[in-house]
Amino acid sequence: YFVSFEGIDGAGKSTHIESFCKLMQKRFPDREVVVTREPGGTPLGEQLRGLLLDAPMNLETEALLMFAARREHIAQVIEPALLAGKIVISDRFTDASFAYQGGGRGLSIEKLNDLERWVQGRPDGSLLQPNLTILFDLPGEIAEARRSKVRAPDKFEKMDLHFFEKVRQEYLRRAKEDSKRFHLVDATKTPEVIWEELQSLNIHL
Ligand code: C5P
Repeated sequence: YFVSFEGIDGAGKSTHIESFCKLMQKRFPDREVVVTREPGGTPLGEQLRGLLLDAPMNLETEALLMFAARREHIAQVIEPALLAGKIVISDRFTDASFAYQGGGRGLSIEKLNDLERWVQGRPDGSLLQPNLTILFDLPGEIAEARRSKVRAPDKFEKMDLHFFEKVRQEYLRRAKEDSKRFHLVDATKTPEVIWEELQSLNIHL
């Protein structure tokens, strides 16, 4: 069973991911829970993450490196874990590429679809996708105010509000398109209320 956490920077996904893992472990004691993240998740992926977050680069290069890191992540971590019956929880997955490189920076959806097929395609023609995607949704300006309180921004976070609003809208569009996979969390609510909501999610492996 594969779960991804998504949302714009500052929406609060990282606050909840750890407790969510503990919750899953408690609820399914006979399954191992693996927590991971993107970009990253493997030694090579973490190196690529370092480059992606710091080095200025062309948009296509950025997308290719994101998907290269993802390919490695799937081959080394996600697929073996799922095959062994483990529960995989990832801080971001492909929806982030559609939202950031697509919605935010304007890479065409055709190119993203091609990369997705390359990297997540299975022999039977289907795509590896999370069973559940928890999307923390928050207006760009509230996220910005939260982010500036916590830490210095990385390369991607030094973007204007308009950028984060475009990223947000692409996330919302995908959530609407695939409403069975997505669970939308209103991230303007307090962490306590959000935690209650996550605990009441109906998850069947
Ligand atoms: O999730 P996390 O905050 O660790 O992501 C690191 C940075 O990478 C974020 O600032 C996010 O905006 C950016 N990112 C991106 N495109 C992706 C995934 C992450 O621009 N596909």
